[in-house]
Amino acid sequence: VLFNKYQELKGNIRVMCRVRPSLGAPEDDRAGMSFPDEKTSAEIVLAGPEERSSLGVVSRKNYPFEFDRVFMPASQNEEIFGEISQLVQSALDGYNVCIFCYGQTGSGKTHTMSSDDGMIPRATHMIYDTITKLKEKSWEYTMEGCFVEVYNEELNDLLVPNERNSKKLEVRHDEARKQTTITNCKSVRLSSPDVVETMLSEAQKNRSVAATKANERSSRSHSIFILKLVGKNLATGEQCEGTLNLVDLAGSERLKHSQAEGDRMKETQNINKSLSCLGDVIEALGRASGHIPYRNSKLTHLLQYSLGGNSKTLMFVMVSPLEAHLKETLTSLRFATKVH
Ligand code: ADP
Ligand code: MG
Repeated sequence: VLFNKYQELKGNIRVMCRVRPSLGAPEDDRAGMSFPDEKTSAEIVLAGPEERSSLGVVSRKNYPFEFDRVFMPASQNEEIFGEISQLVQSALDGYNVCIFCYGQTGSGKTHTMSSDDGMIPRATHMIYDTITKLKEKSWEYTMEGCFVEVYNEELNDLLVPNERNSKKLEVRHDEARKQTTITNCKSVRLSSPDVVETMLSEAQKNRSVAATKANERSSRSHSIFILKLVGKNLATGEQCEGTLNLVDLAGSERLKHSQAEGDRMKETQNINKSLSCLGDVIEALGRASGHIPYRNSKLTHLLQYSLGGNSKTLMFVMVSPLEAHLKETLTSLRFATKVH
């Protein structure tokens, strides 16, 4: 209901902000990144006067921000899912939906999207429950998933072990049917919640092979979980086809080019380029006129038919509450304001 109301006002794009809690100990380094000042840094990100939609960053200056919704550190993933469950329903109703997590490394993107308690398992569980109920109304659904990453402007299949990931993945658009396929990409029929769990742990394993602690691969690539939902009404013959894309973006921190050389430099440029290209596309869609520059990056090219048209987009901007991260927090919030 909220979404429909919002749609009338601003189209199909919403932007929400989530502030993670401070983690306490610097040894809490599960993200593969250290938080040097975690323990001593002050919290500077505060709820605004209208707590559900505004946010204040208070350091030496005040920086007010407005979003469709703001989640403060006490919020749990369950509450976040409450906001996106309508979008999951939309995908079952035949819409294309994209949900992004944007933010610096360590801001909570993976915690929100793909942890055991994150949006991916919650969305798939909700879909199973709904599909079961819809059976009584003669609707039969199939759900297929693939899981890819965009790294250095190339697509990799996360469901295939790296050493066998030799066939090139390519994006193919069927313009007439407005559908996208990825060639050579493994697609799994998700017939039960167990299959989803196996798939996620497989992806996790394949992804971490290349990871080193200092340069964690997952923070340098975008991961995209693509769920295709095809429903057919056995009584009426009616059909619908929707897609749910859950995207854990590369860390948005702007690495200085002077610190990077060679491959690392190229990697950095590619991340900067594809994130700003995503921003440009969403911004252009918000203006609802003119050219949409989908082709400028692999990510937006892949998601072309799930961004714009009558598809629905939700961007979560994730931030740390700490003074130590002020600069990146402001950069992220400004990016999100630009696309809002
Ligand atoms: P990112 O994917 O953006 O790099 P992570 O999701 O890995 O960040 O989060 C970094 C660390 O912070 C992890 O240890 C994660 O468990 C923790 N964390 C992030 N968000 C929350 C939260 N809302 N509640 C509790 N812990 C969180
Ligand atoms: Mg992550």
